[in-house]
Amino acid sequence: MSMKMFIYADNAATTKLDIGAFEAMKPYLLSEYGNASQPYSFSRKSREALKESRKIIAECINALPEEIYFTSGGTESDNWAVKGMFFSDRNKGIITSEIEHHAVLHSVKAVEKMGCDVVYLKPTTEGIITAEVVSGAITERVGLVSIMTANNEIGTIQPIKELSQLAHKTGALFHTDAVQAVGHIGIDVKDLGVDMLSASAHKFNGPKGVGFLYIKKGTSIIPYIDGGAQESSLRAGTENVALIVGMAYALQKNCQCMDANINKVRELEADFIGLLGISGNKGIIRNGGNDTLPGIVSLSFGNGDGEAMLHRLDLRGICISTGSACNSGKSTVSHVLRAIGLDEEYAKGTIRISFGKDNTKEEVRYIANEINKIVIDRG
Ligand SMILES: *Cc1c(COP(=O)(O)O)cnc(C)c1O
Repeated sequence: MSMKMFIYADNAATTKLDIGAFEAMKPYLLSEYGNASQPYSFSRKSREALKESRKIIAECINALPEEIYFTSGGTESDNWAVKGMFFSDRNKGIITSEIEHHAVLHSVKAVEKMGCDVVYLKPTTEGIITAEVVSGAITERVGLVSIMTANNEIGTIQPIKELSQLAHKTGALFHTDAVQAVGHIGIDVKDLGVDMLSASAHKFNGPKGVGFLYIKKGTSIIPYIDGGAQESSLRAGTENVALIVGMAYALQKNCQCMDANINKVRELEADFIGLLGISGNKGIIRNGGNDTLPGIVSLSFGNGDGEAMLHRLDLRGICISTGSACNSGKSTVSHVLRAIGLDEEYAKGTIRISFGKDNTKEEVRYIANEINKIVIDRG
């Protein structure tokens, strides 16, 4: 092969920055550097950009601008939702699931160590947290239910609307980590009925290090980052206007092109599955059931070695991940694959391919071909 291949198919780990978002950010990094909290006219552009970005983001998820709180990303938003609720009322318990991202799971573990009662719900083998399971665990002593909208490892989409209604019946608040979903599938916070929702810009072609927490008007929550009076005195720190502008631009663009993007990515996914010929192949399992996020394909190979497959594909210029990016470098089986009850042998032989709107049919064919070669070589 003469030309060095490069194929990025790890869009669940991060996405490429949209060039328009980059251009929109530039003035706020260079000339319009005024602190948005300062009253002089030089800061007016920064202030207006913040206001406009908040409005754009709110519209994309059917929220009010004053319900959007800018943070440093998905991890901070998740920490705030979980710890903020616990610090508001230490007598209340938390219900979450075994398949949450570590940003939620480790936040919950931290408050559990401080005395919080926590229940970790089990998913079905497809990775769904059912209404029955939530009903069985909820009591009046539960203050917060936190269930992710879509899973980052296997792509399962949860019945959030149904689950938030259940939480509200006993007076609990409902938080959802929607980091994988926002900008990729339609999100309407009013329809979902959630009280809090986490999002992160770099998962929808925005810049890294910025995200937001939607907090429904009237929800009582205390700050997680203490300091100045920014973000209605709930999240202190001088606003990173450039990153926020980039996030708003990227989200608006992804939301405007959402149907087209979904159709394209679904088609790539179907081509890929067809080329692999996994249906009916007993040695290969696709995880996550039927209702998965567009583009996320989690495959488990019996007797396979996910790490070895990742490295072999890397040598061919292909970026994918094993069961979970957070687990790369460690030989432990992913907590998500364990929770859905996947055999240890299959769990170790798991890779995640996550296509995005910029992938092409040629790339899909190349990846499928390389994976098929690995499978044939294994015999
Ligand atoms: C990426 C991700 C996070 C963390 O977001 P960062 O902005 O990288 O901190 C949290 N939850 C889910 C589901 C994710 O995929």
